[in-house]
Amino acid sequence: MAAKAGRPGEGLESRVEGFNERARVAVKDERLRSAVAVHSKNTIRNRNAALSALPDAPELRERAYRIKQETMANLDRHLERMASAVEKRGGKVFFANDGEEAVRYIGELARRRGAKLITKSKSMATEEIELNRRLQEEYPELGLEIVETDLGEWIAQLAGEPPSHIVAPILHMSRHRAAEVLSEEAGHPLPPNVEDLVYFARERLRQKFLSADIGITGANFGVAETGTVVTATNEGNEGLVASVPSVHVAVMGIEKVVPRLEDLAVFLRLLARSATGQKMTVYTDFVSGPKGEDEPDGPEEFHLVLLDNGRSSLLGGEFEEALYCIRCGACLNVCPVYRQTGGHAYGSTYSGPIGAVITPLLKGDEEAKDLPHASSLCGACWEACPVGIPLHELLLRLRRRQAETGISGRAQRLAFDAFEFGMRRPGLYGIGAKAARGVQGPLLRDGVARSLPGPLKGWAESREIPHLAEKSFRELWREGRIWWRGGKNS
Ligand code: SF4
Repeated sequence: MAAKAGRPGEGLESRVEGFNERARVAVKDERLRSAVAVHSKNTIRNRNAALSALPDAPELRERAYRIKQETMANLDRHLERMASAVEKRGGKVFFANDGEEAVRYIGELARRRGAKLITKSKSMATEEIELNRRLQEEYPELGLEIVETDLGEWIAQLAGEPPSHIVAPILHMSRHRAAEVLSEEAGHPLPPNVEDLVYFARERLRQKFLSADIGITGANFGVAETGTVVTATNEGNEGLVASVPSVHVAVMGIEKVVPRLEDLAVFLRLLARSATGQKMTVYTDFVSGPKGEDEPDGPEEFHLVLLDNGRSSLLGGEFEEALYCIRCGACLNVCPVYRQTGGHAYGSTYSGPIGAVITPLLKGDEEAKDLPHASSLCGACWEACPVGIPLHELLLRLRRRQAETGISGRAQRLAFDAFEFGMRRPGLYGIGAKAARGVQGPLLRDGVARSLPGPLKGWAESREIPHLAEKSFRELWREGRIWWRGGKNS
């Protein structure tokens, strides 16, 4: 089975534009919203329980932030150290400036090895560079079959759909839909029963594991001092992808490096707890190179592809903190926008608050201009982030950059200029508020407005707007009707 067109990452570049239109459709999809709500609720509950059982969770968060900050200050040095440790153990290291270079390196490797079948474990970096599609399109003569082996990723691949969550790729799909997809692959109907579906996947994927020529994995972390690539998974597929084929390629974003093994202990304690509420993922694999002469198992060749793809341009700048992300998905689960729209609306490999930050930074403000506005700036993402990335502040900075470069558009600029004008003049503001209170009557039903006129229309499309109070705070204050713990105003 070859990967279908439209696979994760495929065509995403052209889909990033148009978040607003896709979000409008998504908020009307009750099934999607309920699937996201159930997942978010369960994951937040498990995460909170796991983190509150960790007495030093706040200190760990601070340490994680500090380690990332220090690592980024000398990223080149840590990467060189990691590369030389990998090479010392017989591995090969390739620095890829962008996706094109990474694809070319892996394509030429596949050609040299006469590869036909590639197995893959879950990797956001390869999604980002559309590795599957590009390998198949740019190397058609090799006839490569590329199989995702994470269960959710495999079902998404078969369905021709991108993943919709960093950690839970088919969060958007019902059990019945998953059964339909796997039944098509099986060539006979499979019951919509998780055990049967998993059994079928296990049987089918086992054949792929055993006959793959190359295994491609991602990397959750890379340890500079030992040259170790670390992956955290729950299905055990990563171990089979990395160790059964004669060639293992690990694709790692350059920001994933940590200086020392002791730093890894900080991140591993935070990652699984924040992602799924587990203390640890079921499998944590450490790979430091090809198999040694006296080792019976493991690949003959190990290649580490260090992917830049725009990351180094963020170093030392006002968006550097976006590189601290460990891809736990916690910010997605708490985000009031993601929880209404799901991940596909973002049209990007990365969704939710971190997607709204990183996508414009990697793809450009123009193409992803809606995304920094896909946030209420409530700060829930920052509170949930195990590394303490101030995502809401980064979103504000992106909005400011759009305003400064004129990307946000004339209409928005005029609207905010008018808003500023009114807010700076209390008298005018009072008149405007009074007028709004006077005309709100026809829009209200049961005390709330479900539709608004003109440019305000979008505000009420998926939320109920409470009515304006009969009297403003200033009026009540003036009338001496405001009370507080200390007494009454006078
Ligand atoms: S930004 Fe923070 S919360 Fe969001 S995925 Fe990254 S590490 Fe997790």
